[in-house]
Amino acid sequence: MAGNTVKVLCGSCKVGLEGPANAKDHDVVACPRCGRSDTLKNVMREVTKHAEEVTARSIQKSLSSAFSGSKNTKVTHNPIPHRSYRFISDLKL
Ligand SMILES: [Zn+2]
Repeated sequence: MAGNTVKVLCGSCKVGLEGPANAKDHDVVACPRCGRSDTLKNVMREVTKHAEEVTARSIQKSLSSAFSGSKNTKVTHNPIPHRSYRFISDLKL
């Protein structure tokens, strides 16, 4: 997984989670600041949901700017709600 530099962060403190080296699904990772913790498996599930939201919002943004100069094309889209996640990543698109 070369170039995989996405960090997993606490959704509340935005600091990196700490856990055992080479953590497996059942290992617990925790936020060093507030102590929020869960198994790596649950954390990754939450982080994936967050990544999907970030990706969807990014696509929507580029679509609406692609059509912003066109009078004939109306882009209607439902705003993607900002959910709060217990765990997030620093993924930026
Ligand atoms: Zn925290």
